[in-house]
Amino acid sequence: MVEQTSALNIQLLILDADGVLTDGGIFVDDQGNETKRFNVRDGFAIRAWLAARKEIAVITGRGGLALRHRLNGLGVKNLISASGPKKKVLEDLLQQLGIAAQHTAVMGDDLPDLPMLKMVGFPMAVADATPEIKAAAKWHSTKNGGNGAVREAVEFLLKSSGEWDKAVEGWG
Ligand SMILES: [Mg+2]
Repeated sequence: MVEQTSALNIQLLILDADGVLTDGGIFVDDQGNETKRFNVRDGFAIRAWLAARKEIAVITGRGGLALRHRLNGLGVKNLISASGPKKKVLEDLLQQLGIAAQHTAVMGDDLPDLPMLKMVGFPMAVADATPEIKAAAKWHSTKNGGNGAVREAVEFLLKSSGEWDKAVEGWG
């Protein structure tokens, strides 16, 4: 499962939302309002990633206010709701940020993420990803989406590059 990443130099982490930042569940109330449940340890990891001066973006097919509030609270500026193919969205984002695909990691869980995984230097999967996503990934978490998978991924990437300790300095 562990892939040598010392030569990768990942600068940008792309996350899918449903099934990666969440367990895939969507709460719908009687008025039709949708909410989601997030993992606080994933949130800490995202803060650590930003503290390491890395870029992060969430590319989702659904979007929604709950996700926007959560990411705003964490300081994530790039939330892109993709109405079309995620691959084109990622291509545009890489150009906009000036970051090479080989220095990018994508974490996904299901087929809409597959074209993005195939584009980048370090494709990642959550533990409960579909078989196609797991097969395309160079690394997968032991935790499921919404249950600490993002924390595990960020910790793996920052420890691989020797940046974890500094990123969490002052927190522990
Ligand atoms: Mg998903």
